[in-house]
Amino acid sequence: MRRYLHFIGGTPRPARSGRWLDVFDPAIAKPYAEVAAGDAADIDDAVAAARAAFPHWSGLPATERARWLERLADALDARTDDFAHAESRDGGKPLRLAREIEIPRAVANLRFFAHAATQFASESHHGQAGLNYTLRAPLGVVAAISPWNLPLYLFTWKIAPALAAGNTVVAKPSEITPATASMLGELAAEIGFPSGALNIVHGLGQEAGEALIDHADIAAVSFTGSTAVGQRITARMAPRLKKVSLELGGKNPTLVFADSDWRTHLDVIVRSAFQNSGQICLCGSRLLIERTIYAEFRDAFVQHALALRVGDPMDPDAQMGPLVSQAHFDKVVAALERARAEGARVLCGGHALQRPGWFVAPTVIEGLGPDCATNRDEIFGPVATLQPFDDDAQALTLANASDYGLAASIWTTRLDRAHRIAASLNVGMVWINTWLMRDLRTPFGGVGQSGLGREGGHEAMRFFTDAKNIGIAL
Ligand code: NAD
Repeated sequence: MRRYLHFIGGTPRPARSGRWLDVFDPAIAKPYAEVAAGDAADIDDAVAAARAAFPHWSGLPATERARWLERLADALDARTDDFAHAESRDGGKPLRLAREIEIPRAVANLRFFAHAATQFASESHHGQAGLNYTLRAPLGVVAAISPWNLPLYLFTWKIAPALAAGNTVVAKPSEITPATASMLGELAAEIGFPSGALNIVHGLGQEAGEALIDHADIAAVSFTGSTAVGQRITARMAPRLKKVSLELGGKNPTLVFADSDWRTHLDVIVRSAFQNSGQICLCGSRLLIERTIYAEFRDAFVQHALALRVGDPMDPDAQMGPLVSQAHFDKVVAALERARAEGARVLCGGHALQRPGWFVAPTVIEGLGPDCATNRDEIFGPVATLQPFDDDAQALTLANASDYGLAASIWTTRLDRAHRIAASLNVGMVWINTWLMRDLRTPFGGVGQSGLGREGGHEAMRFFTDAKNIGIAL
């Protein structure tokens, strides 16, 4: 059985305790590998390695750090196929999605922040009070904790800016999908990436994760995951006043107006609800539809959902695979039962598939208002709800009826409406007549229960540095 190792001080190695955790193939619901079960002892080793590496790594010219990130990107790029297979098996995502989008985006993250390293500059302010200039220094050893839904993509989204800015990193990937982070560690070892700059410790959140955030030598934590764990991390870190960046859950609205070209965009709107089995924080799980087109849109949307090819993630034709784990499958199935208990009309799906693996049919639900749990709690599965609205004001009220505030999409041909609504939505990111269009320079993140802080571009480089302002009287 394949064993996924830590990567500490430049070397792949097992946990000090010698313990392992099972890693499951979600398409058959059986273990296919084991991952090192890290704990405080491994975290201590990794933080010590990162501390020892900090003077060298942070002292390299930015162009040298950029070259290392580019080399890692080249090595990953050359192995896209292997990584896509591993990602697909580990998380149950369609191979095509992993090969065409997620691994290439991980490569792009590394390249983007390699460039950012060389472009990041200090600011200066002149004229109000002498001359001020602002130095930005790396923080030291930083922690990166990432989830299972886009494993390598979100892992590289954190480690790349942290390293680019001159920090050394201890990263903890999700124990549910450790494969590609572990393979990236092996690649780093192969290319001779400076030892100790990047360290990877696997393990459970409550063991490796908590030991990492509790470690006195960690200067900051960049976390992506559930709101509940984000709150827990913030509470634990508060007494030490360390920087925390939180990218958390979502319950994103999709607003479809009667004047939109919704028929042309239907494929994208359906994808926005069901891509990766709805296990993307940016998925639009609450569809709000203008009443005059409600029935027609609903029927077309359901037809498209029914036509999604759900199957073995390795099948090149599969558009949707299983959910990632038994626990997550149980959570989504319980949410479907709760929706029925709340009075939902299930228009399609609403059940698990009768086959091995954690498959749930694409599900479309109507008849529930904004206050029920189905429309308030994050389900993070292939479950979309439909609600009608009569005018812009009601659309906005429904869209904002959420404690979350990550993203939204607006579908309309009216420019004035699109911009007015976009400005009034309580979210961090809005797409107009598109979804998941990413420019890595833009601020990424949410408001309310969706998180604190922003990633991407300069926002990430600023998070991973401390500013020191220096003023001179002129
Ligand atoms: P999770 O919170 O269970 O786990 C995320 C990571 O935190 C894992 O590595 C886990 O081991 C670790 N962890 C768990 N408990 C911990 C603790 N007490 N201390 C330290 N670390 C701990 O989340 P998940 O189930 O892996 O991911 C799904 C969630 O992530 C969803 O809520 C989704 O919306 C969210 N998400 C958000 C974004 C975003 O950018 N906003 C992106 C992707 C996923």
